[in-house]
Amino acid sequence: MSVHFTILGSGSGGNCAYLEAGETRLLIDAGFSARQIRERLASIGRAPEGLSGVLITHEHGDHIQGLGTLCAKTGTPIYTNRDTREALERQFQHKLEYRVFETGASFSVGDVEVRTFSVPHDAMDPVGFVLSTSAGQIGFLTDLGHATKLILERVRVAEVLVLEANHDLKLLQDDTKRPWSTKQRILSRHGHLSNEAAADVAVELAGGALKRLFLGHLSRDCNRPALARKTVGDRLQRAGATHITLEDTSQDRRCETLVLG
Ligand SMILES: [Zn+2]
Ligand SMILES: [Zn+2]
Repeated sequence: MSVHFTILGSGSGGNCAYLEAGETRLLIDAGFSARQIRERLASIGRAPEGLSGVLITHEHGDHIQGLGTLCAKTGTPIYTNRDTREALERQFQHKLEYRVFETGASFSVGDVEVRTFSVPHDAMDPVGFVLSTSAGQIGFLTDLGHATKLILERVRVAEVLVLEANHDLKLLQDDTKRPWSTKQRILSRHGHLSNEAAADVAVELAGGALKRLFLGHLSRDCNRPALARKTVGDRLQRAGATHITLEDTSQDRRCETLVLG
């Protein structure tokens, strides 16, 4: 069975990815408008009507913006833990169908096994995912202040990883738009990974299954794709991990579809 994976967009302004394994079609987060998600799915010949489910990492707007409209229209079930569900119910007036999982648990959606794990981030009960398919495993690790040993253990099996490289420390410090309190929040242990912190994670994982690394969730103001790629790429190079392919993501456009298996 071939597995197709497309990041429909990733950045601090919106996140959504699409995974297709056999008959199973999943979105991971829905952080663009429903219309935008529909258009980006259409660009790969797919439609929201065919979805098996949407997996939600946490309730921040850049992960759920189009969720209510999209799922109310299509009846697609939303996979989330209880606290995140409650936060979603407070935000959406729509009648939506939920499938609640326990953080840390694994469950199946059709041909995909979903493993969940807790991440430190300032949301109700944020999680990361490892999606296991017959053609390989894909990890999602965005929106976390720091990577614990347990997290590294969970994503070590993934051949493909979407990893947060949110900000460059200097660009964040020099940013004039954000108040000090916001910067403190971003930099905290429940905030976001910097390029350097992403590089630490990449180097930690370099001896494992990882072959393809997508740098995700870049801040529009406090990061540059070339800077993130250089910071992580240089560190991987120095660690001798030349077998890992680095890819950019953007919130403005989708990535090329990756075919596994
Ligand atoms: Zn967040
Ligand atoms: Zn986010």
